[in-house]
Amino acid sequence: MKKKVAITVDVEGAWISHPQEQCDFDPEPVLKAVRFLEQELAKVESSFLTRIPVTWFVRCDDSVSHAMGNPEGLLLAMDGFVNSRLDAGDKFGLHVHFYAQDQHRVWGTELRPGKQREILERAIEAWSRYFRSNPALSRMGEGFMTGEIAAAIDAAEIKIDATALPGRVRLDSGFHIDWQGTPEHPYLPSKQDHRKAASKQSDAYGFTEAPFSMLSVNAPYDSVPLARYFNLAFRTDSLKGGLRKFKSAAGGIIATLHPHEVAMGEERHPLIEKSEGAVLLNLQNLAAEVGDIEFVTIDEIARISDG
Ligand SMILES: [Zn+2]
Repeated sequence: MKKKVAITVDVEGAWISHPQEQCDFDPEPVLKAVRFLEQELAKVESSFLTRIPVTWFVRCDDSVSHAMGNPEGLLLAMDGFVNSRLDAGDKFGLHVHFYAQDQHRVWGTELRPGKQREILERAIEAWSRYFRSNPALSRMGEGFMTGEIAAAIDAAEIKIDATALPGRVRLDSGFHIDWQGTPEHPYLPSKQDHRKAASKQSDAYGFTEAPFSMLSVNAPYDSVPLARYFNLAFRTDSLKGGLRKFKSAAGGIIATLHPHEVAMGEERHPLIEKSEGAVLLNLQNLAAEVGDIEFVTIDEIARISDG
């Protein structure tokens, strides 16, 4: 059987040199990087002799609104792209970062549960204005999830959320990531603890959580390899050893990347390959480990464990 691979792309600003750029949203470099990524994906299509359907998680939130006048500003700015990719079979999902300005107009992560819910609700409302329907797919920024947010995803009748980073816990440097004990496959989250699969249907939220595929990544600055999400823009030599895991793993693979990670800019990061054809090479290395690949959108992977 062919291995199913879903390529997911978070469309937003650069984190490499300026983490704050995620807050102060500048659409121009984002759109330029998306155009570059399309060229890189075309190389993958030529090599694998197939169209690559992509699941795009597009930023739509208060920081986009601050920069562009409304939360759906980025979607409006890339309207032609959205329509042509939808026609070709791609999927689009809501991507929200929970940023808010404090009284000194400094951006940071909103930590008040009621306010988080309002940010998500504003984002969903804007998404619906643009697409004329609620989002079916979502991904929260920076692995951020709480019981309040999970309940709001459920209330909005989102079908699949793709935020979980199984096993990853990071509560420093402004991160609020806690996915301890989370399964490595799609699951129906428990209303008592969204990080865990519900033990019975009546305890489950109505959406499927589809976690990032994790693997052992050997960054140049690691003393030992660390479990990280499968990012197709990572250095090929850092990823290569970890790809073996997917040969025996059940289910599909959810890979990711950000457009600016592949676009050729000034900024550099030791874990990001930054050379043309890196996405293709990482996928060729994956195929060498797992055999034939079938490229799908994320809903085709999340469906597997729905029964
Ligand atoms: Zn993001």
